[in-house]
Amino acid sequence: MIKFLPLGGASDIGASCFYLNINSTGILLDCGVDPRKKGKESLPDFSLIKNEPLDYVLISHAHQDHIGALPFLVQEFPHVIVYSTYQTKEIAEIVLHNAANILAKENLEQTELRNYTHEEIDLLVKSIIDVDYKKEFTLKGYAHSSDEEIKITFLDAGHILGSASIKIEFENEVIIYTGDINLSDQSLMVGADLTDYGKVTTLILETTYGATDSTKLGTWESESKRFAKYANKILHNNGSILIPVFALGKTQEMLSTIYSLLENKSLTETNIYTGGVSKEISNVYDRNKFIVNYNKKDLSLRNIPQINFNDITDLTNYNKQNGIILASSGMILKDTPSFRFTEYWLMQKKFAIFIVGYIDETAPGYVISQAKKNDLILFNDKPQKVNCTIERFYFSAHSKREELIEIVKKLNPQKLILVHGSEEAKNWIGEKILSINKNLKVYSAEDNTQIIF
Ligand SMILES: [Zn+2]
Ligand SMILES: [Zn+2]
Repeated sequence: MIKFLPLGGASDIGASCFYLNINSTGILLDCGVDPRKKGKESLPDFSLIKNEPLDYVLISHAHQDHIGALPFLVQEFPHVIVYSTYQTKEIAEIVLHNAANILAKENLEQTELRNYTHEEIDLLVKSIIDVDYKKEFTLKGYAHSSDEEIKITFLDAGHILGSASIKIEFENEVIIYTGDINLSDQSLMVGADLTDYGKVTTLILETTYGATDSTKLGTWESESKRFAKYANKILHNNGSILIPVFALGKTQEMLSTIYSLLENKSLTETNIYTGGVSKEISNVYDRNKFIVNYNKKDLSLRNIPQINFNDITDLTNYNKQNGIILASSGMILKDTPSFRFTEYWLMQKKFAIFIVGYIDETAPGYVISQAKKNDLILFNDKPQKVNCTIERFYFSAHSKREELIEIVKKLNPQKLILVHGSEEAKNWIGEKILSINKNLKVYSAEDNTQIIF
């Protein structure tokens, strides 16, 4: 018997954590935090499995919404064995230490959580068993009640460095958990190749872009051209451009995109500002480019000239030494560099904010992504006039909704479980796929509601 129970991340993007009980072997698929929330609220609900066996955690990739809660899980379940790809393990070390630094500044006592130490992170990361893409391994939990072991394979999901879809085979069931998946090429990452995925009985599918009209989304190539056109306008007028990005993934992809535009003279010479942990993550990209599917093996991100924005305390610097600033967080969450820059940027007539990736409706960045020059908006709980230019681009690390349908069609499962998207997103995918295949069993997953198959 297989039981599927979401502890978080079933109906939105944040705290992805899905429990699978396969003949009494307990497996968690991902263990993320919701970066929009604080304290216990930000974690998956581990209490839902307090009377269940838990043996393993399989991490699809190192974004916070998929890995951030792992140190808290290990506090409660110290015996769990964690698996990820080698690249995810390398990035995990950077992002978990960074998250510990951020948490140390917050007053966790008030939130019933105990922060973890850097020593605990070192131990945790050391204990992660790294596996190669496409290399099958087997699992059998302490109370496993079958002679047959569970077979696991990590498959390249094309989302960020190290990202994987996870294939789980047991008896006659073949389950694929897509994790975050992209079928299209980005500047660096090569899109996922579904021929590696094989036949599937149950597909657990992310639906991030299910509610986004794809006619708005261009290709990476066409968005790059549009980006250069708008960026040149701002830079020629001595303005600076803020691009809110995730430190992991989008920073590296945008660095590579901007560098290509500079190289082929589509973009005017300018300064590039980066900061935080993005440099360390870029180094992991550089180190791994020859062993993963990667578009620009001749490019070293570390060789792209960059100025560390943390070395600059006077924001008027950006009026004098204009340039492009890649700052996290991508969704302009409070207490992050992109949030602080946005407050200054909103006052600057010559400046621009370029939104390049996904922004959740509940994140502070959403109002910015919807605003236009001269609008009056509510940002940081204050009415503020938008003096700067705002442009929206779509450089996506996720599949478009038509590509999500293509995944279902190609893998042709009997059961489809929709996760990692809004109700609206899941509804679009569910309705569309049922109009194509009436016999498919489609579940719109909900946190704290189990599905047995
Ligand atoms: Zn992700
Ligand atoms: Zn995600």
